[in-house]
Amino acid sequence: MSAFGFGRQMLRAVAGRGWRPRSSKPAPSAHASRPGAGFSFELTDEQKEFQATARKFAVEEVIPVAAQYDKTGEYPLPLIKRAWELGLMNSHIPESCGGLGLGTFESCLITEELAYGCTGVQTAIEGNSLGEMPVIIAGNEQQQKKYLGRMIEEPLMCAYCVTEPGAGSDVAGIKTKAEKKGDEYVINGQKMWITNGGKANWYFLLARTDPDPKAPAGKAFTGFIVEANSPGIQVGRKEMNMGQRCSDTRGIVFEDVRVPKENVLLGEGAGFKIAMGAFDKTRPPVAAGAVGLAKRALDEATKYALERKTFGKPIVEHQAVSFMLAEMAMKVELARMAYQRAAWEVDAGRRNTYYASIAKAFAGDVANQVATDAVQIFGGNGFNTEYPVEKLMRDAKIYQIYEGTAQIQRMIIAREHIGKYKA
Ligand SMILES: Cc1cc2nc3c(=O)[nH]c(=O)nc-3n(C[C@H](O)[C@H](O)[C@H](O)COP(=O)(O)OP(=O)(O)OC[C@H]3O[C@@H](n4cnc5c(N)ncnc54)[C@H](O)[C@@H]3O)c2cc1C
Repeated sequence: MSAFGFGRQMLRAVAGRGWRPRSSKPAPSAHASRPGAGFSFELTDEQKEFQATARKFAVEEVIPVAAQYDKTGEYPLPLIKRAWELGLMNSHIPESCGGLGLGTFESCLITEELAYGCTGVQTAIEGNSLGEMPVIIAGNEQQQKKYLGRMIEEPLMCAYCVTEPGAGSDVAGIKTKAEKKGDEYVINGQKMWITNGGKANWYFLLARTDPDPKAPAGKAFTGFIVEANSPGIQVGRKEMNMGQRCSDTRGIVFEDVRVPKENVLLGEGAGFKIAMGAFDKTRPPVAAGAVGLAKRALDEATKYALERKTFGKPIVEHQAVSFMLAEMAMKVELARMAYQRAAWEVDAGRRNTYYASIAKAFAGDVANQVATDAVQIFGGNGFNTEYPVEKLMRDAKIYQIYEGTAQIQRMIIAREHIGKYKA
């Protein structure tokens, strides 16, 4: 139990208050019992409650300090602890490990609200989901209890270590290798751009186990759980990024790091599919984060346009400005529908790769377009750090880069789309 205290009890209390949405039950019954089951935009009361709690936290506790965290780049530990206390973190950890076992849909609702407050904070929190997801989809009971269970006991962080200095989009090009020696694997290599890299308690790590360069990706790589305090791990400096500056991004060197064979996920050779499979469940929340940012930009721009006067009237009364706001609103609404569809598909037990990539690509672009338009509506003030929208524009860019770039999403969408015609 952490000094902070009462995470587990708090989560249980939350669940006991009837917070657990019916959709946390396994698919396909997931959404069947809801009022208006089938085609419906109505959220359940429980989902509304999650959303309201996340919104209250974002508005009352995150927004007042977001600019300061952006300025200093300090890791937002107090906010993370508070989010953990409120049950707004690790919400997808199964009930068997003490978690709430929420669906992707509910996680997305929470994520949108957190991102509305600050996407640097949201990315730090989302980094946990990304690190945990391989263990959720491929971990055995012991691995899940040990590594997911401790995230419920204490407000700990974890990380997803796949990207390297020489390979990001081309995951099969990673060079980190793991060699089996007795009952252990010895890992050597270098990872780059790891969210929560310097704060993680453990890592999901992808390494090459088949040295044959001709081995197919589906067999050449293995996924490991690595304790962050293992000898041989050197964590690099915190990277100073364009946006989301309070999120902790680092390079990590692994030098003769010994990992017991019990920490292999599924089995040797299964790593690539696990690492890629995690994205089906994490890309909808990334899209939801982008929507939260876009919604914030729309709100800020609308409020400003109602107040700022030029040529004797509020700028919102100039059609060019009001049409800009209309375009921004259209994009926010459609991007939200895209992430909700992607999340709903995966919660219903269906393969959602196509929808997850559409949501991630579309919402990432929308966040950038809407934040840029918000800066435009603020005029000169939009370019200045005293106003909130320049941060939003800087923060938005990463949504077109991490968890698969805008170009990689289009490759996936094209592959999935064209595949349907060839089948
Ligand atoms: C702040 C931040 C946090 C991150 N967090 C994590 C993390 O927690 N864990 C992790 O493992 N990684 C993380 N990443 C890494 C991130 O996922 C990669 O940066 C991303 O996948 C792109 O890889 P790259 O940087 O090597 O770019 P490259 O792959 O070198 O791509 C460069 C450009 O070429 C384009 N491109 C590449 N291949 C193609 C192609 N076949 N067709 C068309 N265009 C192409 C790309 O879209 C991009 O525009 C993070 C990155 C950042 C910046």
